[in-house]
Amino acid sequence: MAGFLDQDIKFLPGVGPKRAETLTKELKIKTFGDLIYYFPYKYIDRTKFYKISEIHAQMPYIQIKGKIQSLDIVGTGNKQRLTARFSDGTGSMDLIWFQSVKWQKENLDISKQYIVFGKPSEFNGRINVVHPEMENEEEKQLKPSGMFQAFYITSENMKKKYLNSRTLNKIMLMLIQLAKGKIRETLPGKLVSKLKLISLEEALTIIHIPENTVDLKNARFRLKFEELFLIQLKILALKHHRENKFKGFRFEKIGYNFNRFYADFLPFELTEAQKKVLKEIRRDVNRNIQMNRLLQGDVGSGKTLVALMTMLIATDNGFQSCLMAPTEILAQQHFNTISKFLEGMGMKVGLLTGSSKQAERKVLHEALSSGEMQILIGTHALIEDAVSFQNLGLVVIDEQHRFGVAQRARLWQKNELIPPHVLVMTATPIPRTLAMTVYGDLDVSVIDELPPGRKPIETHHFFENRRKQVNNFIRQQLENGRQIYIVYPLISESEKMDLKNLEEGFRHVTEAFPDVRTGMVHGRMKPVQKENAMQKFKQGETKIMVATTVIEVGVDVPNASVMIIESAERFGLSQLHQLRGRVGRGAEQSYCILMSSYKISNESRKRLGTMVRTNDGFEIAEVDMKLRGPGDLEGTQQSGIGFDLKIANLGKDGEILKLARDIASDLLAEDPLLQKADNRVLLDNLKTKQTDFNWSSIS
Ligand code: ADP
Ligand code: MG
Repeated sequence: MAGFLDQDIKFLPGVGPKRAETLTKELKIKTFGDLIYYFPYKYIDRTKFYKISEIHAQMPYIQIKGKIQSLDIVGTGNKQRLTARFSDGTGSMDLIWFQSVKWQKENLDISKQYIVFGKPSEFNGRINVVHPEMENEEEKQLKPSGMFQAFYITSENMKKKYLNSRTLNKIMLMLIQLAKGKIRETLPGKLVSKLKLISLEEALTIIHIPENTVDLKNARFRLKFEELFLIQLKILALKHHRENKFKGFRFEKIGYNFNRFYADFLPFELTEAQKKVLKEIRRDVNRNIQMNRLLQGDVGSGKTLVALMTMLIATDNGFQSCLMAPTEILAQQHFNTISKFLEGMGMKVGLLTGSSKQAERKVLHEALSSGEMQILIGTHALIEDAVSFQNLGLVVIDEQHRFGVAQRARLWQKNELIPPHVLVMTATPIPRTLAMTVYGDLDVSVIDELPPGRKPIETHHFFENRRKQVNNFIRQQLENGRQIYIVYPLISESEKMDLKNLEEGFRHVTEAFPDVRTGMVHGRMKPVQKENAMQKFKQGETKIMVATTVIEVGVDVPNASVMIIESAERFGLSQLHQLRGRVGRGAEQSYCILMSSYKISNESRKRLGTMVRTNDGFEIAEVDMKLRGPGDLEGTQQSGIGFDLKIANLGKDGEILKLARDIASDLLAEDPLLQKADNRVLLDNLKTKQTDFNWSSIS
C-alpha cells in the first residue's frame, strides 16, 4: 500500500519538478519519506540575540534585531551588489547581497524592524554579513518556527539553484504540516510503551523543528534507537535463520593429531586465554550447527596457534581445512609457520596464492579433491580458483576486516549442503559497537592475554630535533644485537611518489649507518623479491629493514625490537598499533618511536598521544572510532551491512546500540519470524526499508 511518505517529492508544494530533479540528483531524495528522513546536521539556538557592538568576525553565527538605515545598489555588471546599512542603536554594520539585487531592494523595507541572521565577516575594518537571512518581526509572529534552527547539508549545485539549508527549512515545514496524522508508527506498540519512546510522527516533527532541548533529545533517541534496532534485528535474524536452516558438521572427537601435537610438538604451554578460546571453539564445532566465530586478539596474542589447533580437530574428524590471508606475504608466512609447527607430524599442507604456477595448481587441486591434502593456506585466490575440496570442514579467515560478508558467503558455496565452520581472526581490535554491527552475526571470542615473558613496548613521540638521539639509540640497539624496522608512510596519491619517499628514506638510513646491512621492502616489489628481503631480515642477514606498511600484518621477527615510524602523523591509529605489533615478539624490551613534524593537527596529536599512553588495542580502537567515525574504519565499506546510518553514530551511541541489540535478541527469541500481530509492523518495515538485505529469503 502506497502511503503518504511514498509520494513523489515533486508533488510537495514548494518543490515542483525542477527542484525535485535537483533533490534527487544531489541528495537521492525521491519521495516525501526520503525528505523527512533527511536529518539536520546541526541546530542553532535562535533565542540568542547579539548587539552589533559585541560582534566580531570570528563568530560562527549571529542574530541581531535592528533597522535598515539605507539601501544602495553599487557597482555594475558582475560586481553589482546591494548594500544595506543596518543599525541596532549600539552600532552599525553592512548587509550585502550579490544576487537578486533588484528584487532584494524592492522587498526590504526601511521602516520595519528586522531580525538578521548570518555569518559575520570583516571588510575594510567594517563588520558585514553577506546574504543574511532577513525576517521582519511581523512575519515571525505568524510562523510557528522553533527556537532552534535546523541546518542541512546542501551541495554547491543546490546552492546555485537557491536550494540552500534555509529553503530546505521551509520545504520541510510544509511537509511536516501536511504529514500531520499520516505517519504510521513503525515500532511495535509494546516496545514503544516499554521504552517510553515518543511516536515516530512526533520524532520526525521535532527533529526538524525542535522547540526545546528535551524534546530534541527524545526525538533523537527514538530515531537512533529505531535505526540501530532494525540493523540488529536484521543481523540477529540472519544468524537465527542460518543456525536453523543449515546443519553444521559435527567434529565430535579430539583425536590423534590434536593430542600428538599438544603432547609432543607444541613448544610452549598455551595461555589461559588460548585454552578458553579453544574450549569455546570445541563446543561450537560439536553441535551440529555451523560455527561462525570471530576470534579477536591483539597482535602477538597467539591466534595462529589457536587456528592451527582448530584445524587439527578438523583433521581428526576426517575434514579438510583452509586458512585464508589477505596478502601473499602473510599467506606465505602462515604457510611457513604452520609447516614448521607440523614438521614431523606427517601431514600435508599446501599453499595457493595468486602467483602459484599453473602446474603447482594442478597438483594442489588433485591433492585437495582426493582428500590427500589436509590443510590449504592461501589468499583469496582460494575463493576465485576452481579449487574443489573433497570435504572442506573448516575455513579460517585471518585479518577478516579485509574480507566482506559476501566473500565469506562464497566460501560456503564450496560445500553444497553443509557449510564449513568459519573462524574469523582479527588482530585489529574492533570497538565493541562496531563488532556488534559488522560482525554482529558472529559469536565473539577474545584472547585477552599475551604469552608470558613479553614486556610491554615502550613508545615515544619525537620531533625532528631529536633525530641525533634517535640514531644513537638505534646504534646502541644494533650493538646489543637487535634489529630495527623503519617505516615510511604511503602518501598514496601516486605509487611513484611513495617509492621516491621510501628510497630517499633508505638513502638517509644508509648514510647514517654506512656499516650496517640494510634491506628494503615495499608493495611494488614482486612477491619473490619481497619474500627474499623479508627472509634476509628474518635470518638476521640484514639488520635494518626500511619498509612501507606492507610489513603491517603478521610478519614475525622476534629479534626485531625497535620500530621507528617516520611521519607518524600520516598514519591512522589502528595502523600505528598494527605496526607497533611487529616488535615486542621476543624476550627483549622493545621500543616504538614515532617521528613527526612539528606542525601536526590536533587529531594527529591525539593519535600519537594515545599510542604513547597505551598498548591496549581495544582502547586504541575505541579512540580511533571516536576520532574518525565508524564509516572511515577499514572494512565497514565492504561489510555489506550497509553503514548508511542517518542519525546514529557507532562511536557515540554504544549504549543505545547495546539496548537495541538486547531488545532485538529478546524479541526474536519470542517471535523468530515476526509473526505476532504486534510485531508484523517490523516485518513490513524491514521488507521496505532494508533493500540491501533479502528479508524474504528468511520467511
Ligand atoms: P597473532 O597471530 O595473534 O598476532 P601469533 O600467533 O603470530 O600471534 O603469535 C605470536 C608469537 O607468539 C608467535 O611466535 C607464536 O609462536 C608465539 N606464541 C603463541 N602462543 C604462545 C604461547 N602460548 N606461549 C609462548 N609463545 C606463544
Ligand atoms: Mg597473526
